[in-house]
Amino acid sequence: MRRLLVSEMTWPEVERELEHIRVAVVPVGSCEQHGPNTTFTTDTDRAYEFCKLLGERVGEKILIFPPFGYGVSIHHMDFPTTVTLRIETMIHALTDIAESIGKHGIKKILYVNGHGGNRSALDAAIIKLKYEYGIEAYWSSMGTNISRARISQEMELPAIIGHACEVETSQCMYLAPWVVKDELQAGELQSDSAYMRRLFKDGNAAWSWKNDASANGALGDARRATKELGKIMTDISLDYMEELLEEIIRR
Ligand SMILES: [Zn+2]
Repeated sequence: MRRLLVSEMTWPEVERELEHIRVAVVPVGSCEQHGPNTTFTTDTDRAYEFCKLLGERVGEKILIFPPFGYGVSIHHMDFPTTVTLRIETMIHALTDIAESIGKHGIKKILYVNGHGGNRSALDAAIIKLKYEYGIEAYWSSMGTNISRARISQEMELPAIIGHACEVETSQCMYLAPWVVKDELQAGELQSDSAYMRRLFKDGNAAWSWKNDASANGALGDARRATKELGKIMTDISLDYMEELLEEIIRR
């Protein structure tokens, strides 16, 4: 399929394609520590590369925007170089992007999110867009949450995963190998309590990752990561996203 990437197009080219574009796809990431294992652009690059593959499957029905490379990473601020947006800033940025796109005639937006800390802001932005701007917006994750059951068949997983662990690092090896370091390390977990599991499940970001989750910033054990596992989880997420897009277009 012929994918449409804003980064490869001029405005006259976009204008010629507008009649068949149904959904704008906006990758959303973070500039956030990923332990000693992967770089600060892990979530952003993963989300963008995922969207490029989505474009190859879905073709000219979607227009893929450049990734938004900052997010809500308050819980990672103990680690140098992490940048966080205030949650209000993030909500405004997401709504501004969608409102701009909407003014050019694309009335449906799908944010593809690579970072769990962005979830509350994405929920809020979608509500605002619907009720204040009349824009139909959706968001979806693109990794662990969609494929966890299938990944568990390939590999026994620790209770808490999803950040610089075997799962996320596997997806990086497949989608964005340039963010992965040669020497991988296991996470130095601070707690495996039911409370912590709940925090991770609900995506609450108002706590300290270093003190509450992992001293070196990583979860799980990235040394177990493989490119093959990364491909399996990505293919499952792509299948899911393709169906989701069809549904969004149909509505
Ligand atoms: Zn990440």
